[in-house]
Amino acid sequence: MSNRPEQGQRAASDDESERLTHERWTRALEAGEPMGLSCGDCGYVTGTPKAACVRCGSRDVSTVSLPTSGTVYTKSTIEIAPGNQGRGYQIALIDLGDARMLGRIADGDHVEIDDTVELTGTYEYDGDIVGVFEAR
Ligand SMILES: [Zn+2]
Repeated sequence: MSNRPEQGQRAASDDESERLTHERWTRALEAGEPMGLSCGDCGYVTGTPKAACVRCGSRDVSTVSLPTSGTVYTKSTIEIAPGNQGRGYQIALIDLGDARMLGRIADGDHVEIDDTVELTGTYEYDGDIVGVFEAR
């Protein structure tokens, strides 16, 4: 008789399952449900998965859902991009609720600062993913 624990019986800690990993963040974004992190100490909200608060360094961060529409905080037009990523498209920093997220503006759309945009998909760059936003 053996007391060897069976594989796969290791309980995942709550901490680990609640953590906003890059993979979980990516899956949520692909599902059209952007997620961010809210700091329990300073209240700062970020739109990307981090191990700690980017403002104060606290590890007391919890996962929050972000809205799918927001406003353009700043934008830039990419005239020449590496690889086959198209040209003449815009990238923008978008205020999504309390968070700010980098996104790509849908091909053919053009946005200005303070324009309202909506998350409509995702775009993959070399294994990294960004949200695609359309002007509203
Ligand atoms: Zn903080």
